[in-house]
Amino acid sequence: MSQTLGEFDLIRRYFERPVRRAALGVGDDCALLALSPGMQLAVSTDMLVEGRHFLTTVPPRRLGHKALAVNLSDLAACGARPLAFTLALSLPRADETFVAGLAEGLFALAEAHDIELVGGDTTAGPLNLCITVMGEVPAGQALLRSGARTGDELWVSGQLGDARLALEVFRGRLAMDAAAMEQVRTAMEQPQPRVQLGMALRGVASAAIDLSDGLIGDLGHILQRSGVGAQVELARLPHSAVLAAQPPALREECLLAGGDDYELLFCAPAGRHDAVLEAGRLSGVPVQCIGHITARPGLCVVDAAGQAVPLQRLQAFDHFKS
Ligand code: ADP
Ligand code: MG
Repeated sequence: MSQTLGEFDLIRRYFERPVRRAALGVGDDCALLALSPGMQLAVSTDMLVEGRHFLTTVPPRRLGHKALAVNLSDLAACGARPLAFTLALSLPRADETFVAGLAEGLFALAEAHDIELVGGDTTAGPLNLCITVMGEVPAGQALLRSGARTGDELWVSGQLGDARLALEVFRGRLAMDAAAMEQVRTAMEQPQPRVQLGMALRGVASAAIDLSDGLIGDLGHILQRSGVGAQVELARLPHSAVLAAQPPALREECLLAGGDDYELLFCAPAGRHDAVLEAGRLSGVPVQCIGHITARPGLCVVDAAGQAVPLQRLQAFDHFKS
């Protein structure tokens, strides 16, 4: 391991790769990208700060994966096809083992989605990764938070709550066997952005968001932007056997306010039920109808007996309140 690797050597060694699609990648003052005709550019930025978004226990490879995954999840929620990304990196020191692992996780996911790193910035400082992703979507076809209509069905992809369970274990509030821990830890550290599903939902879903801060909070954004309410059936929320084995109060909290799920939450007219199932099948991701949109504002979660579940104790994550 070298202690003397400079900024530009580090960039060249770990982040400069030949580009195939972009007209110009890493190495000049700007990257250059060409957009296909009729497409809009979809852009999103997400920052991961040590101690806030990830724990020091995360292996660098998984951190690289997650930093890109949470950004791709935003493109997925808009139904955009990912094209390229930039990486702004603040590192306490030029630790090559760390940077090599980070780059490995980052590029493995980038290759899986056929996208390329086209630029960034590298500086010394507290560990912080900020990625900006760019994607394209046919003009006017992006999925928005504002499109939910009364009577729409409400859907979610994958399973909810495992990432939150892992956090509880890391916080020392919960214990589980090694196999269960590996499962929930993988959910937390290596979320799979639902990019294919997002694209398959264009023209089918009326509104969408990705779940980063917990179901209640993120659904709240759709409801607010769309000017509607929703009813959610607790018993329909998809979850793992590991979560099913937890006490009901914890299970509820993980499902409704867990955070870090990176699944898609979306609405679609009831008449498009089969089209949603087909989008799930085509993209290889399970989708589950969990409720419906109501004209009456506000969110009502009901249990298996049809009784309203009190939501006051379940707060969505907020960086300035939590
Ligand atoms: P400038 O000073 O002109 O902003 P920099 O010296 O910051 O340029 O970066 C040099 C080149 O390396 C640029 O093309 C920039 O996009 C790229 N770059 C810097 N850091 C990273 C990184 N972490 N990942 C990818 N590209 C990077
Ligand atoms: Mg720079």
